[in-house]
Amino acid sequence: MKKAVYHGIRDVRVEEVDEPNPGAQEVKIRIQYCGICGSDLHEYLHGPFPQSPFGHEACGKIVEAGPAVKEFQVGDRVIAFAKGAYAEYLACPEERLLKIPPHMGWERAAVVEPLAGAAYAIEQGAVKASDTVLIAGAGPVGLMLLLGLQAIGVKTVYMTDLLENRRKKAEELGATLVFNPLENKTSAKIKELTSGRGVDVAIEAVGVESSLKDCLTSVRYKGKVIVQGIFTDRVPIHMLGFVTRETTMMGTNSINPSLAMDWIELKGVKPESMITRIIALEQIATEGFEILVGKKEEIKILVEP
Ligand SMILES: [Zn+2]
Repeated sequence: MKKAVYHGIRDVRVEEVDEPNPGAQEVKIRIQYCGICGSDLHEYLHGPFPQSPFGHEACGKIVEAGPAVKEFQVGDRVIAFAKGAYAEYLACPEERLLKIPPHMGWERAAVVEPLAGAAYAIEQGAVKASDTVLIAGAGPVGLMLLLGLQAIGVKTVYMTDLLENRRKKAEELGATLVFNPLENKTSAKIKELTSGRGVDVAIEAVGVESSLKDCLTSVRYKGKVIVQGIFTDRVPIHMLGFVTRETTMMGTNSINPSLAMDWIELKGVKPESMITRIIALEQIATEGFEILVGKKEEIKILVEP
């Protein structure tokens, strides 16, 4: 079968490898789609994480089930929360699978995982419907957060991004106000929008110093900063402001798939609105990673092995 193999920084090659053999408690999945995640892009550019999650936003159909598999059978359509899915087939433990409801299309199923990241952040951050929120960054992470905040009833969501196409997307999806942080100093603009108070919650969805600073300086006294962006560099923080304003800051890096499914099924959330392109596995480097690190015209790219 074909698989995209990570060889090093900016070196991912599609190679012929053996098909995986599922263990007793595993299934073998014919991958339908695997979405490109910000973390994959990060590894592509900067090297692998300790437990590399390369290729983890996968869905497909079970073609083989190990003898001890209980809840799933051949033919089931599933989301697989596993890595290594930039391939035609994947072996995945049963406990890392979620059944796709019969009426749910493949494209929607393929973006449940990133929505589940937003679900986890919003739930862990205990964001309330009455909160006013700033999301710094309107890439896939920020936009999924926007959908999630809408699902829990948050009325006011301000967003920032440097790129016009991403700001447009955020507007389309119903953000209250979206602006370019280079044209408007974020903290000043947020003060203006909140009568000098600041937002209750600011969420960092980029992974860079400037947006983290924007979050820290835009939350109200005793406000909360949730950090979901993946950082490459160390960031100096103005600790005096952090302390005197009694800010709470937390990092989030897990998923809550059941909450994401509830949002989709009960609140009408449509995470597939993020998908801007579907490419073949062979195109993963040239039309996937390189496009996402270059002009960033695309938001969510799915790979179809
Ligand atoms: Zn992901």
